[in-house]
Amino acid sequence: MNETYQKLQKYLDKESALEVALALLGWDAETLAPKQAVDHTSKAVGILAGEAYQTIINDEVKDLLSKLSLPEEQKTLTDVEQKIVKQLKKQYDDMEQIPIEEFQAYQELTAKAPSVWARAKEQKDFASFAPLLEEVFAYNIRFGKYRSKEGQQPYDVLLKDYEECFDAASLDQFFEEVKATIVPLLKKVSAKKDFIQDDFLYQCYDVKKQDEFCRFLAEYIGFDFERGVLAESAHPFTNSLHNKDVRITNHYYEKNLASAIFSVIHEGGHALYELGVADELTMTPVGGGTSMGMHESQSRMYENMIGRSKEFWLPVYSKLQDTYPEQLNTVTLDTFIRAINKAQSGLIRTESDELCYCLHVIIRYEIEKDLFAGKITVNELPTVWNQKYQEYLGVTPADDAEGVLQDIHWSCGNVGYFPSYALGNAIAAQMYAQMKKELPVDELLKEGNLKAIREYLNEHVHKFGKMKNTNEILMDMTGQPLNAKYYTEYLVEKYTSLYEL
Ligand code: ZN
Repeated sequence: MNETYQKLQKYLDKESALEVALALLGWDAETLAPKQAVDHTSKAVGILAGEAYQTIINDEVKDLLSKLSLPEEQKTLTDVEQKIVKQLKKQYDDMEQIPIEEFQAYQELTAKAPSVWARAKEQKDFASFAPLLEEVFAYNIRFGKYRSKEGQQPYDVLLKDYEECFDAASLDQFFEEVKATIVPLLKKVSAKKDFIQDDFLYQCYDVKKQDEFCRFLAEYIGFDFERGVLAESAHPFTNSLHNKDVRITNHYYEKNLASAIFSVIHEGGHALYELGVADELTMTPVGGGTSMGMHESQSRMYENMIGRSKEFWLPVYSKLQDTYPEQLNTVTLDTFIRAINKAQSGLIRTESDELCYCLHVIIRYEIEKDLFAGKITVNELPTVWNQKYQEYLGVTPADDAEGVLQDIHWSCGNVGYFPSYALGNAIAAQMYAQMKKELPVDELLKEGNLKAIREYLNEHVHKFGKMKNTNEILMDMTGQPLNAKYYTEYLVEKYTSLYEL
């Protein structure tokens, strides 16, 4: 091994050890930790997080990275080492553009803002959160300016933090295409309001049995309980320590059967990605999913394209009926499939169905862009928000809690993050179309052979971790960069048939 890299390795090992500890503490805080643990434990978390940061951000690591970036040193590094050096170097270069006092003030702001947001949401009072939100956006606009290359817009800098392959110009085009399909399609679907009956999904479903059935489903799609854990939390999420310990959570509602079922398949999709990262990459800076959009593509493909198909349910629906004979014995598989695919305009992004989902994202994206461009102000957000919901989804929030205050993201400083959610759906559709060309997907699902699908995704996506970016994965797998056509065609075909349009 290159001697300079060997010195860097010590820092990387320490950082990844701290990251494992932080991931575990984070997972614990949301699942098993007792209520009163929060004060002391979060203090410990703060110290460990600071330690992790300083392990990488210090003068010695900076020198090592500069040396390792020289062409003659690069030649002696492996591909993985080169990628790690490149990634860390970029992190340094980005950070150095931001004055340290501003960075610290921003850290303090975003540590405090989520609790102010939570209170404002509880009290349905946007005005009490607006001053902090204004500061969050002001910092992000400034940071974007500091970090932008010549001719680059500040918003593009932030978008690229989450999706390096996309900027506002490419997203504008993508969202226009998606919007042009979904808005009219949703109008047609909404006109057939009571066409699909799904009342039976909202009877009483014993939550212990839901948990058992969801464990079965997780294992059925390939979640390995020898390398993973499933627990309960307020909102389902996935947390990866490394490729031998990936944790997912679920939440059970007695009067909603579909929620937990599709959450476990969704989180299971995220988990399969992390479990599938190659051994040589896990516990390194390139050892996780390549982007948030790519991650969401895996979870959404499992949840929607696979998990809501009739083929998927053919081998397992009788098991669900056996779990709840009273509620489901008279519900046919076809009735069940139609119900779990029902589309309906709503106000809340996280409760949205597959058809409406991207519209929620588009609204947030357009608002962020207009804020960055100075076309609107933070104080105008509730009005702008409500107008857009009426225009795109045909609904108007009764208050700001179910309107502009519904998401935590902005209070945490996650600006530029939302588009990834929509990109995930489109990436998933493009990949699914390709997979269907190469594998008899429907037949495999009917046979209950999820292994072949999992192995295919592992071979083309999972094992690479961050060694390839989103477009490289798409190019190698499908022969083209992201193309929204697959997604729009998928939606049109699905809902035209489902609603007999
Ligand atoms: Zn997800």
